Amino acid sequence: MTLLIISAIWLALSALVGRYAEAKGFSFGLHVFLSIITSPLLMFLIAAIRAPKTAKVEQDAIDAGQMKRCTTCAEPIRAEAKLCRFCNNAQDQGWLPPAARQRT
Ligand SMILES: [Zn+2]
Repeated sequence: MTLLIISAIWLALSALVGRYAEAKGFSFGLHVFLSIITSPLLMFLIAAIRAPKTAKVEQDAIDAGQMKRCTTCAEPIRAEAKLCRFCNNAQDQGWLPPAARQRT
């Protein structure tokens, strides 16, 4: 019974390590597998010290529709954004900032 409980905790911690690694752009399945056969703590520490795969995390957010690329500077910005936070350019064709509207 104790072994069953320890195994369940081990698997749950391994799944958490997989989710943590996935959020940093690494493979979920590989980290769960390695956590189960080695140690969830070891794999968590390895995932924690590795630099995140920023490009993959950004692309995943774009694929999920949470982010989009700015049409001017190509930086990733929130999908709802009307202005790019990097270059300050308007994103919607039909929307112009107040200063631009006064000129027309
Ligand atoms: Zn921009």
